[in-house]
Amino acid sequence: MTNDVAPASIAILGSTGSIGKSTLDVIQRHSQYKVFALSAHSNVDMLFAQCLQFHPELVVMVDEKAASNLQKLLRKQNLDIEVLAGAASLIQISTHESVDTVMAAIVGSAGLEPTLAAVKSSKKVLLANKESLVMAGELFIQAVADSGACLLPIDSEHNAIHQCLPEFSAGKGQVDRRLVKRVILTASGGPFLNTPLEEFVSITPEQACRHPNWKMGRKISVDSATMMNKGLEFIEACYLFDLNPNQIDVLIHPQSIVHSLVEYRDGSVLAQMATPDMRIPIAYGLAWPQRIASGANFLDLSKASALEFHTPDLTRFPSLKLGMDAAAAKGTAPALINAANEVAVDAFLSGKINFNQIVLINAEVLSKIPCETAVTLAIIQAADLAARLEANELINKLNH
Ligand code: NAD
Ligand code: MG
Repeated sequence: MTNDVAPASIAILGSTGSIGKSTLDVIQRHSQYKVFALSAHSNVDMLFAQCLQFHPELVVMVDEKAASNLQKLLRKQNLDIEVLAGAASLIQISTHESVDTVMAAIVGSAGLEPTLAAVKSSKKVLLANKESLVMAGELFIQAVADSGACLLPIDSEHNAIHQCLPEFSAGKGQVDRRLVKRVILTASGGPFLNTPLEEFVSITPEQACRHPNWKMGRKISVDSATMMNKGLEFIEACYLFDLNPNQIDVLIHPQSIVHSLVEYRDGSVLAQMATPDMRIPIAYGLAWPQRIASGANFLDLSKASALEFHTPDLTRFPSLKLGMDAAAAKGTAPALINAANEVAVDAFLSGKINFNQIVLINAEVLSKIPCETAVTLAIIQAADLAARLEANELINKLNH
């Protein structure tokens, strides 16, 4: 298939993950995209398979041993692909002069430095790694303004909002905020929308990772189950679209067909609808402001079940409220909640704490550590570290 968009050289941070694989799936449908660099934490087999198919010039394996194993495999195939090791090498690919577009698809805070570096190098940045924006929102958005980078949200809700803001979607600059009354983020409610609350304590990681509508990595799947994901997305929306928390509402929409909405002051509401398939926002980001085929199924509303919307129950999902509180507090509060949550989700996935304890740890960390103004990366990283130490201490106490 041919398209009239300019050829682009792409680096994918986190190419072996759910978003990384979906990105490659879209790219392989279109000859105008060239994969310049790929990265993964330690999945040698998958990165090797991606090298065979996409022939990047450069790959990064964060894990040193995995990097040397990958190098051996590539040599055997006589493939001339440079392999770099270690987290610092991620910045080499995200800022490389041959790269136009960076897909930021690492999970968690590990994505912050390479993603921010891409922004500072004025790249087109496709942002899936919401944690990096949540942690460093003010600095991050300032860096976008200073460098003139093009930041496009890949998170389906924020991508939907982008599509419902005509100035943004046409690439014609900032939105006049006075025209927008509010933004409505939709949320599926995850796998436990109707589970009796007394059963929450015995939820297993496997149950939490079985999302009804989306197939995603384990961390975001747990976040969707607690609805911390929507809390993080609430913060993400404040920074991306320069909104006050009181301009954002959340609606539970179990069908995941309406991905979010924008309400204008005249009462008009624009919504973006599509089948729940991340290749759609990824294709939008790659081609913007053009459109390309994504490979996703088309939406047949005549066959869709009834679309439902209702307000979230914050006693069932207190994590959403925590995210909203952190958004209102600003400063280092989002970094604190994000770091506590990464530690707590990890502890839940490795069987150290139960499902209900995730939000307890997050709330305790947020209330114990004072929130500061987040004016430098060093302050944000210190808050991140303090929250991790506190969360780990709380987890150890719970286990004694
Ligand atoms: P995933 O767990 O499937 O993949 C994560 C990727 O990051 C892998 O390639 C892994 O090798 C890499 N990685 C993990 N730890 C790393 C580290 N310490 N250093 C460097 N690389 C590391 O995750 P995912 O579901 O693809 O999600 C990626 C990001 O996209 C997350 O921030 C998530 O919130 C966001 N997101 C995902 C979806 C989705 O549908 N999966 C939707 C919206 C947003
Ligand atoms: Mg989302």
